[in-house]
Amino acid sequence: MTGELETLRKQADDELLKAETEAELQILRTRYLGRKGLITGLLRNIARVLPADRALFGKECNELKDEISARIDTMLADIAVSKKRKALDSERIDVTLPGRGIRYGSLHPVTQVREEICGIFAGLGFSIVEGPEVELDYYNFEALNIPRDHPARDMQDTFYVDENTVLRTHTSPVQVRTMEKRRPPIRILSPGRVYRRDSDVSHTPMFHQIEGLLVDEGITFGDLKGVLTVFLRQMFGEETALRFRPSFFPFTEPSAEVDIRCVICKGRGCRVCKQSGWLEILGSGMVDPEVFKNVGYDTEKLTGFAFGLGLERIAMLKFGISDIRLFFENDLRFLNQF
Ligand SMILES: [Zn+2]
Repeated sequence: MTGELETLRKQADDELLKAETEAELQILRTRYLGRKGLITGLLRNIARVLPADRALFGKECNELKDEISARIDTMLADIAVSKKRKALDSERIDVTLPGRGIRYGSLHPVTQVREEICGIFAGLGFSIVEGPEVELDYYNFEALNIPRDHPARDMQDTFYVDENTVLRTHTSPVQVRTMEKRRPPIRILSPGRVYRRDSDVSHTPMFHQIEGLLVDEGITFGDLKGVLTVFLRQMFGEETALRFRPSFFPFTEPSAEVDIRCVICKGRGCRVCKQSGWLEILGSGMVDPEVFKNVGYDTEKLTGFAFGLGLERIAMLKFGISDIRLFFENDLRFLNQF
């Protein structure tokens, strides 16, 4: 039996020398020291040992067991230490390397223009009001003096949700909603998305408008001209020349379109201004009394003016962009320029 013990010691010695990993060592531990392990197996056969030698044999088996256990523990500890050292080596931070740098985003050009315009009008005492994009036919058309048979109400131009609901085609319904709720004086600016069935280099099915409304006693066309002149000169420069051209909108009377001297060719004539030297910038007019009647305002006492402009058009002129669709393609090469 002592011979068997010696063979086992040698075998364990060989195998432990070859073991390299934690997993291998755990297998050896089970193999030699486990409840069904080799040493336990020897001890089970102790009956075959002479009674006089049993005590010594048992002692030697236990010594071998302790010896193997201690070796495995030491080897496992060594593996853990070298593992930690390797991890520290590979995760070392070189503080002398240059930093990765943070990339800054920027505001969308349309947002920049909206904020600039809102800022100018805030300085003139206007407050910002917003309204729904899915709008009742009544607010989008009827209350603004656009009757049932008006061409603007054609299915070709308007996205209808159902018979009485549309995606608003302009920000003007916010005027009516505001006047229904408030009494004059009113000075509001209403930016937002609007929708029309249109798509080419200068039209997209969704675009942004800003609408302004001022109502009080004794407001005249002179006030309209004054406010819009202040706005356009702050927006495009103090030297900007303006002209007011008579026009027609169903909800204003009289109506005027406002042009500025072409910011690109300074009036000499270019492709952008179609050689005219002027750029159409906004539509405006004195609020039609019919609109006031719809909200129960006294048309004898109250007058006011309204105006509206497209934000993409302003952004195109300001940043020299030739295709409106670029605004909505989310191409970072385009957006990173602003
Ligand atoms: Zn021009």
